[in-house]
Amino acid sequence: MAPISAGPSARRRELHPKPIFDEPALRTFLTGHGIKTVHMARIWKHVVSQLSESTWPRLDEVPGLPQRIRDALAAEFTVVTSQVVKTSVSELDGTMKLLIRLQAEHPDQRQADRCGERDTLCVSSQVGCRLGCTFCATGTMGLLGNLWPGEIQEQLILARRQKGHSASICNVVFMGMGEPLENFDAVSSAVKGFVDPMRFGLAPSSITVSTVGSSPHHMQRMLEELPKIRLAVSLHAPNQQLREELVPAAKAIPIEKLLQLVDNHVEQTSGEGKRQRTVMMSYVLLKGVNDSPAHAAELAALSRPTSHCEFDPLQRFRRHNSRLGIAMYLQSVLKEMRSLGNAHAYEEPSPQTVDDFLQILADSDIRVFERRHHGRDIAAACGQLAKLEGPNVCD
Ligand code: SF4
Repeated sequence: MAPISAGPSARRRELHPKPIFDEPALRTFLTGHGIKTVHMARIWKHVVSQLSESTWPRLDEVPGLPQRIRDALAAEFTVVTSQVVKTSVSELDGTMKLLIRLQAEHPDQRQADRCGERDTLCVSSQVGCRLGCTFCATGTMGLLGNLWPGEIQEQLILARRQKGHSASICNVVFMGMGEPLENFDAVSSAVKGFVDPMRFGLAPSSITVSTVGSSPHHMQRMLEELPKIRLAVSLHAPNQQLREELVPAAKAIPIEKLLQLVDNHVEQTSGEGKRQRTVMMSYVLLKGVNDSPAHAAELAALSRPTSHCEFDPLQRFRRHNSRLGIAMYLQSVLKEMRSLGNAHAYEEPSPQTVDDFLQILADSDIRVFERRHHGRDIAAACGQLAKLEGPNVCD
């Protein structure tokens, strides 16, 4: 089991200048200058209206603000604080991976994002991750830093620029580096920025936050504060014992309690006049570890409601309109993890094993599908983002 380590630079870094889309920072600035915070909308509107132009919008030209405030704004804030230093494009599926250098870069404070051919951006919420899931190269890095809300949001700006057409990326998934619950204040603020009509104006249903459920408190907060986003829960095992071996942070919430939280959330946010919630359960298949017919049967049984669940005529995953996403472990992640010092030696299951696993679940009436890995040839697939190099470097 990999140790959970908190990197020495995991505390919040100070930024100067700060990202203009960082709502807490901008609010503090305006309040400190005696300016009403309603002017945030005016500032963001000025910036957003010019984001597709070749030069960045000037903050000292925001209309309707006193000149002294404009000058101070330009001195303390910037449109983007980070920069794309490398772009890789998959020859297999067109996935683009961005290597982003953060402001005041610690040698390792780099992050990687990927955007797929279906106009979805996979964003990071941290640099590295302290949770140490045993099959994940990012977890092998430990935590090197938390991102600010503005840094999370500007990943969308940078990716849209790289793609060359400003409105093309309208889906955001928090499946890059980091566990969203571990930097929840920033993630919550960033999600609110993504859906804010004055900033990015994305539909809440176009945003997915993926979590292993590392904190009951923050899990509850996420369900309450962000009720309309899509939720993805990483299971990876059909029972608590094996889950804790693969995902050490799973100790925080027992698997039945985790599913109960999801049950309650779906119950509260679906129903008459409300859109049916869709929850995705993720499961990575590791050869000889969690991929047997017995594991599939146990997973199928887990999908049935708990005894203290009030509504039970249908199976849990069906009732939620939920889907179980099964992904194969990638052998290429192993090489990367070994280069980072991780001793775990997992292998990819055979295609027949995957088919058999899926069939057992499908036979149990569970909505199951095989998740394709995007960008596996450029180390952009799930669990691979620790790898900072890749072929097809464009710039
Ligand atoms: Fe962290 Fe997610 Fe990797 Fe687990 S799978 S170590 S939570 S980034």
